[in-house]
Amino acid sequence: MRGAVIHAPGDVRFEERDDPKIIEPTDAVIRTVATCVCGSDLWPYRGIEAVDEPHPMGHEYVGIVEEVGAEVTSVTPGQFVVGSFATSDNTCPNCRAGYQSSCLRREFMTTCQAEYVRIPQAQGTLVATPDRPAGEFVPSLLAVSDVMGTGWYAAVAAEVRPGSTAVVVGDGAVGLCGVIAARELGAERIIAVSRHEPRQKLALEFGATDIVTERGEEGVARVKELTGGIGADSVLECVGTQEAMRQALRSTRPGGNVGFVGVPHDVRIDGEELFFSHVGLRGGPAPVRRFLPNLIDRVLTGRINPGRVFDLTLPLEQVAEGYRAMDERRAIKALLTP
Ligand SMILES: [Zn+2]
Repeated sequence: MRGAVIHAPGDVRFEERDDPKIIEPTDAVIRTVATCVCGSDLWPYRGIEAVDEPHPMGHEYVGIVEEVGAEVTSVTPGQFVVGSFATSDNTCPNCRAGYQSSCLRREFMTTCQAEYVRIPQAQGTLVATPDRPAGEFVPSLLAVSDVMGTGWYAAVAAEVRPGSTAVVVGDGAVGLCGVIAARELGAERIIAVSRHEPRQKLALEFGATDIVTERGEEGVARVKELTGGIGADSVLECVGTQEAMRQALRSTRPGGNVGFVGVPHDVRIDGEELFFSHVGLRGGPAPVRRFLPNLIDRVLTGRINPGRVFDLTLPLEQVAEGYRAMDERRAIKALLTP
């Protein structure tokens, strides 16, 4: 089969790779229906994360079960399945507590921009849809496997409640999905931080009520202005830079919460400032598996349409163009179909 391999920063190739096989009895192999390029894939692509040797790429997927190991009974060949970027048995103490992305048997998926993918811990990781979904649902189901699940976790971690005010820092796919999540969880006011017009437009369509274009201290001042000088109840930090985290913490009211899901790159938090801010902080790799049944249902009933974050669709063999388009910000997120 063929799949994406990164050889060096800026150098992603679509090439022949070994066919994935069942190795453990808890594995499944799926035939990819759709996969995509993640904002975090751009870290090695841009050379911010080192590429020591060529390796496969991709951690988002939906597909059809091709084969299952002897211990997998929850999904069967032929079913359409959605899974998370982190595998989970869904039975260990961390899974039972709702933190499947800290499963004791966790593996991070890294081979999904390919025609076939091996899924470890398939029993706990994969969720099958009731029927084979119509093609129009595929982008949103793919979004649920990562960006929508992550945006949802950001909103849950920031404790968005009905009637509350939420700020979303970051207008990438996760931030935009965070707007959807804040709306679904009942936030009355949703302030999206974005300086890119097409993204602002999508944020407004997803439920944002206000747009703040300023970053850093000016962005904080603008949020304070919009919230009677106090700050927001909930802030979703969906970037992972020092500036974004500082903006998130300082935009939150005393007693409010920050949910942070942007993978931190050189982010430092000052203990004393955090202490006196009275702000609650929770983040980490999203336990997407916890939210999958709920989010799949919301997609299939037409309540949410996070697939709209994909503004570029390419054949999988043009995966390199997907990286280029996202790197150059010509696309928010590229969907790839074999
Ligand atoms: Zn577990």
